[in-house]
Amino acid sequence: MNTFAESPQQRWQDISTRIAQARTRSPLAAQEVTLVAVSKAQPAEAITPLLAAGQRVFGENKVQEANAKWPALREQYTDIQLHLIGSLQSNKAHEALALFDVIETVDRPSLVETLTKERTKNTGRCKQFLVQVNIGEEPQKGGVMPQDLAALLAFCHTHQLPISGLMCVPPADTTPAPYFALLHKLAKEHSLTELSMGMSSDFETAVRLGATSVRVGTALFGQRAA
Ligand SMILES: *Cc1c(COP(=O)(O)O)cnc(C)c1O
Repeated sequence: MNTFAESPQQRWQDISTRIAQARTRSPLAAQEVTLVAVSKAQPAEAITPLLAAGQRVFGENKVQEANAKWPALREQYTDIQLHLIGSLQSNKAHEALALFDVIETVDRPSLVETLTKERTKNTGRCKQFLVQVNIGEEPQKGGVMPQDLAALLAFCHTHQLPISGLMCVPPADTTPAPYFALLHKLAKEHSLTELSMGMSSDFETAVRLGATSVRVGTALFGQRAA
């Protein structure tokens, strides 16, 4: 049997159920876990069935692509919440603050400075910020190195950028659990409550280890066009 043969609504139901089950089995699990549907590289036609099913929280990794898709969908569904999960260039900060409700990829002092400056103009909708941690210390990956996290959080604090949690993408092709556990530990050390971790292949593990949101793309939408 092809496990991916169902409708988008059925996949959505299935993933929601799996999140709920993973949660009930683990003492570390959060009270509530938000499913962020990662709609990057998906056209509006792929997104509307999930909106019709009731999904309201979506993740995009590119500011421009998101700005081309979401304003029209927001006219129809006014309670959509958008998360930026890709790296943010400073020259797109203004646009990102206007479009996204949550920016999950704060990762360097220069970006903090730009976001703070833009926020003083008071025009954006974004109220929530997470710091992305390069949890596997991979040179090619975004995120602050774990050993630099404390300094970056202090910098955010002095710049009055409110950080509510941490986000990570563990190294590919290895067991993610130790990385999720480390992110959880770092968040606790800094009294941060939000933990964005877990994707299509490992969201149940992430939920068991305390994720408050999981970012699921292919398991919901199918493969992305390259
Ligand atoms: C693409 C992406 C996801 C979703 O990945 P899937 O494996 O398709 O579920 C989650 N988080 C980030 C940061 C991504 O770039």
